[in-house]
Amino acid sequence: MQSKSEKYFIGIDVGGTKVYGGLVTPAGMIAAQHKEPTPPHAGPRDILKVIGIMVKELLKVGNVARGRILGMGVAVPGIVDNSGKVVITPNINLSGTDLKRILEKKYKIRVTVGNDVNLGVLGEKWLGAGRKAQNIIGLFPGTGVGGGVIVKGDFLTGYQGAAAELGHICVDPQGPACTCGNAGCLEAVAGRWAMERDIRAAVKKGEKTILTDLVGAKLEQIKSGALAKALAAKDPAVTRVMTRAADALAEACVTLNHVFNTEMFILGGGVVEACGDFFLPRIERALKKDPFFSKLQTPKVVAAKLGDDAVMLGAVAAVRQGTDLRTVTSTYYPRLKYMPSGKVFVNAIEIDKPLYVRADGKLKEPEEFVPPHITHDLVEELTKKGPDTLFIAIGLKKRLSFSAKAENYLKKKHINIHILPASAAVKAYNACEERKAVFFYPAPARTGKS
Ligand SMILES: [Zn+2]
Repeated sequence: MQSKSEKYFIGIDVGGTKVYGGLVTPAGMIAAQHKEPTPPHAGPRDILKVIGIMVKELLKVGNVARGRILGMGVAVPGIVDNSGKVVITPNINLSGTDLKRILEKKYKIRVTVGNDVNLGVLGEKWLGAGRKAQNIIGLFPGTGVGGGVIVKGDFLTGYQGAAAELGHICVDPQGPACTCGNAGCLEAVAGRWAMERDIRAAVKKGEKTILTDLVGAKLEQIKSGALAKALAAKDPAVTRVMTRAADALAEACVTLNHVFNTEMFILGGGVVEACGDFFLPRIERALKKDPFFSKLQTPKVVAAKLGDDAVMLGAVAAVRQGTDLRTVTSTYYPRLKYMPSGKVFVNAIEIDKPLYVRADGKLKEPEEFVPPHITHDLVEELTKKGPDTLFIAIGLKKRLSFSAKAENYLKKKHINIHILPASAAVKAYNACEERKAVFFYPAPARTGKS
């Protein structure tokens, strides 16, 4: 699909349990990806070794020579100073490593190193939920609560790289102890570890919760999916704990808006992915109610779109920002072609069966499509990677029927849908500048024997 002269960036997301890397075009298309486990108790040398394996593997999978790499972005879970030196990484052993300098020396390309959550927000700004915004605050409740702040297109790092640690702003001075040593931090109330603590405490006092059925009596690790199920079942203990978490997040957003007067809050992370319907409206309501902003525009509150790719793509966005791309041509979405014969092409591939181009530009075959039914599962598959708009290109004499659940899903996710004859769909798709996906349901191919 990519031309031989296409150039690439490498993005690497170094996490506590795995390292995720991508070979990415200047337009943001992921051409190859690879995962490696982070070796337990790894030191800086081991992690550098994994990065080396990652680079080799990406070049091999992408079938790309090293000379075509424009730069490398690396994300680490910790504080990185403005020179690209890792200051502290609490969960992996990279503290004090001059990562940028080491990698630049080894690969002779530009390297940027940054905090993973900051880069995740930058990724969402480049290709995800924040594409039209210049001022964004990202909040990612997962095990803890990660944060990132973008002002006028650039993320804040602060004097020593420790800015935007939004999980550790105080929402309750009398609140519970945080892992950082302070009390009443946002993440000590709204992080998953905090919610787990509160649910366990409630059970210890004799309160019942369906979570004991879902994850076991010890309530050792309560995954986001289990929380979502308990919420849907109106479990009183879970609802109470999560309401408190949502209120803390909402309060933090109101305060942050007073500091930054932001354009948009992007909420992501495992808990929001599973329970976005619960969190987002509460935060939106709190921002709307803020009397200080009654005469001003309320910031948008949106869900993150890139999922696990956000940080890796953000690492690429960071190194890409300082790269001269004047001589580089690269496109993100394939251009669709409609022929007078009725045939549709995606790049050079003829669409002769149901196929779709996902929001990340990848051409895929649906797992299950039983015409004419568009089911909830199918819609969920077609809209993976978060498009704003979904086109459906239907061949002559074809009909589709949407299940109520599928329609509901699109509405809930704020995804516009356009069902059009193939020629019109191709035109509309090519002209659309949003994040987009298209599903082709062509008329059966003529055999040409008649
Ligand atoms: Zn804290």
